[in-house]
Amino acid sequence: MSDCLFCRIVAGEIPADLVAEADEWVAFRDIHPQAPTHVLVVPRRHIATLDDLEPSDASLVGTLVAAATEIARAEGLVEGGYRVAANCGAGAGQSVFHIHLHLLGGRPFTWPPG
Ligand code: 5GP
Ligand code: ZN
Repeated sequence: MSDCLFCRIVAGEIPADLVAEADEWVAFRDIHPQAPTHVLVVPRRHIATLDDLEPSDASLVGTLVAAATEIARAEGLVEGGYRVAANCGAGAGQSVFHIHLHLLGGRPFTWPPG
């Protein structure tokens, strides 16, 4: 989608601080980090929200989670703990309507989130 911010980052039309990439996803640093490490894991394919996922997307979702855990290890986040989060819908705080996992680490976290 040409008007989607993350599609444009995936396409290289908008610069981003790339962390890792693979066939199905790219990972880049959040422009407004909420923790010392804040990486977004984004599928190359446009899917607006988690609610738009189909059963056939199950392996993609698993791949995204595996990517987040792999990056967490590479970023040295495992010992201190890290959080993987996804917001679905504006009411939950989703502001970019192309699904993404937030990988946050490098500081303590509280629960429940705000
Ligand atoms: P959401 O609010 O949809 O869960 O998360 C969207 C995230 O994208 C936010 O944390 C926001 O800071 C980040 N973001 C918004 N615009 C840009 C951008 O142009 N570049 C990067 N790298 N991150 C962005
Ligand atoms: Zn998109």
